[in-house]
Order: sequence, then structure tokens, then C-alpha cells
Amino acid sequence: MNKTSMGSWVESANEPDCDFPIENLPFGQFRLESGLHGQKHIGVAIGSQILNLSAVHALVEMPIELHDAVHLLSMGEMNGYMSLPSTIHCRFREWLMSLLERGSKFQAQLQTALVEQSAVTMELPCFIHDYTDFYASINHATTVGKMLRPTDPLAANYKWVPVGYHGRASSLRPSGVPIQRPIGQTRAGEGKPPHFQATRRLDFELELGIFIGKGNAIESTIPIAEAEEHFFGMCLLNDWSARDIQGWEAQPLGPFLGKNFATTISPWIVTREALEPFRVAWNRHPQDPQPLEYLNDARNREHGGIEIHLEVQIETQKMRDENQPPYTFTSSEFSDAAYWTVAQLIAHHASNGCNLSAGDLMGTGTLSGSKPENAGSLLELSNGGKNPITLPNGELRSFVEDGDQITMKAYCQMLNAVRIGFGECSNRIKPAPTPRN
Ligand code: MN
Repeated sequence: MNKTSMGSWVESANEPDCDFPIENLPFGQFRLESGLHGQKHIGVAIGSQILNLSAVHALVEMPIELHDAVHLLSMGEMNGYMSLPSTIHCRFREWLMSLLERGSKFQAQLQTALVEQSAVTMELPCFIHDYTDFYASINHATTVGKMLRPTDPLAANYKWVPVGYHGRASSLRPSGVPIQRPIGQTRAGEGKPPHFQATRRLDFELELGIFIGKGNAIESTIPIAEAEEHFFGMCLLNDWSARDIQGWEAQPLGPFLGKNFATTISPWIVTREALEPFRVAWNRHPQDPQPLEYLNDARNREHGGIEIHLEVQIETQKMRDENQPPYTFTSSEFSDAAYWTVAQLIAHHASNGCNLSAGDLMGTGTLSGSKPENAGSLLELSNGGKNPITLPNGELRSFVEDGDQITMKAYCQMLNAVRIGFGECSNRIKPAPTPRN
């Protein structure tokens, strides 16, 4: 049984399967008017509404120790807020709960600070300096590895090194924006000449994004025992991938134009504090090597995992034309998919003295579960395009087609905890432009 929410005077937050009960309170940035003229504000989602944090300070008294935090948020300085100590993040969350709980004495004052989510345009939740993408699902790495190296699918480093690459922050985009099919160099087969054309193997990757809170100075490290204090929160992440461009360009330096045309994220950062009830133990399989000392920690073993359920829906143009509902065609569990924990990814990233800053984003890598039907990409689900999946209306999909709307959702649900959700990361594919030589 789910625990019942403590309840809020914002009644929509008390609906049974609401993503944003008072126990969640994720942060996002929004504009009241679309276009460049609308000013950006920071808010927290509560039910179907947003509490506008640029309005709150003028309406209610705040505790003295939160003056800096409230000031930063009211000025739109999300990264500044994220860089504060995690003790302040906990205290701010308690204060927000006291403002929004059922029976709060602040209810009347705060009415004017509420905005309907349906009335605003959501932006990226903070300024993202840097974006790294990991490869943390051993199931994904093995299945994709098999396609390339059938006899030796998993590289020798996989069980020792949290493998990743540096992505591109400039093409990170929020949920909702249409994504243009990219053009690039592809090759029809071994020994054939390459062509410059629209990708024919456009794919999604079901991932979670990890936001860094407090950073570290260059040449300093983040010890694994302290890594959680640098973990601000999470969102959904779709690492759009052009498999044909990727396959031709990736040797020997790895992903480039097959990846950096767009990566989309859900607009709300679910905080580490909100994820706390969903923590689980993390264990390495006894037959696998234990991590090296700098990635090994007692607290990480007891508490390093997080139970998050993820799923992907598709809505094709034909489904829209015929008024059919979106179809959920794959799902997975973060704790089943991930070989490394959030703390290990953060500690590893900074282990060479690489400086992380507040607002940096780390993708987990495609979160494919241990069963083939729980794969987090079409590349895996269609076996490299050889076995298309069949949608309920009979349409086939090996890869993503123009007009397809891909929607990722996630939620945490456990015994004796109040269910919380991530909202969604949902984008539609628009056709490629005409190639220009
Ligand atoms: Mn990826």
C-alpha cells in the first residue's frame, strides 16, 4: 500500500496518482508568457499548480537562515541555490512544506503566488554549464556490444570504469519543443560509399539526468562518502541518437554528431531529499569484481540505489488522426538497469580533479533492464532494425518516424512511501530540412 500524503491545501496535490504531492516539490523554471518577452521565474510544482518562488518572499515571513536561499530563488538564480549546502536544501524543503501543508496559516497570502502549470511555458530547469553522458546499464552495454562484437560484447573496462563521454550542453532542450530529424554522413554497408542525408535510424534513449548541486574546485576530488552532498536531484532525459550517423562516425573517438543535435529533459528537478524514501541497497553480483576503493563505500552499499520506474510511450501521426491513446511500449526500473550508483558516477567524474559545478548535468546512459522487453532504446527493442515492433494499430516501428511523439515518464512507488512522479519528457519529431551541400 502507498502511504497517504500529508496533504496540501492545494487540492490537486492530494489526487491519488498525482506526480507532485507535497512530498515531492520539484524545482523548475517557467515563463508566464511565451516568447522572449516573458520573464523567467523559478517555481516548485504542487499538484497541477506551481508555487512561484519569485512572489513568495513578498507575501510571507521567512526564517532568517533561509534569507539567502529565498533571495537567490526570487532573483531567478537557480544555479546559485543549487550550490548552497545540502543542509540549506533540507531546511528550505521543510519551510516549503509548512507553507503548503493542509491547514497552513499562510494559505490566504500564498493564493496569488500560485500559477496553473497548463498556463506557462517550461524552460530548462537551470543553466547547464556542462553535460556528460554515462553508460551505466550493463544490459544496454551488453546488447549493443553484441551487435558490434558478437563474441566479446562487453569491453574489458566495463565492470571497473563507469564509462562516459562529454556531451554538448548547447543542444539540451526542454520537453515540448519539436525535434528536427538530423542530417549527416551515413553508409549503407561495409565497403559502400557514404552519403550525406537525413538519418534513417533515429532513436531515443531512456535515461535519467543527474544534477550537480555544490561543485568542486579544479584539482580537488569528491570522495565517494561525500558524493551525495553534491547530488542535487534528477530529471528524465532523452538522449536522441541517429544510429546510422553514430555507427559510421564513432570510430575511434566515440559519439559526436549522431548525438549532439538534441538531448531533451523533463522540466522538473526532483530533489535528492524527495527521493530519500525510495533508497535501496546497492550490491555488486558476487561473481563480478568489487569496485576499486575510491568507488566503494559502506553507505553507498546500504543506501546507494534508488527505486525509480521509467516508461516510454509513442503516439504516431496515425494514432492522433484516429484518436487512439498513446501506447506504452517499454518500461524499466533504475535499480535493475544501473550497474553504478549516482554517488559512484559523481565520485568517478571528479576523481581525476575534474571540476563539477552547480547545474552540471550527467546522463545515466540508456536504462535498459535485465530482460530484453525492458530495453530503453528502439535499437535494442527492434534488434538493430531487424525485428520492428508492432503497435496496437498495426503500424511497425524499427526507429522513430516523423510525426512520432515520444513521451518518457517516471515515478517512485514503494511500500510505506507517498508516490512521487517526475512529470514527463515529451517531444515530437519534425521532418529533416533539405540537405545543403
Ligand atoms: Mn546516451
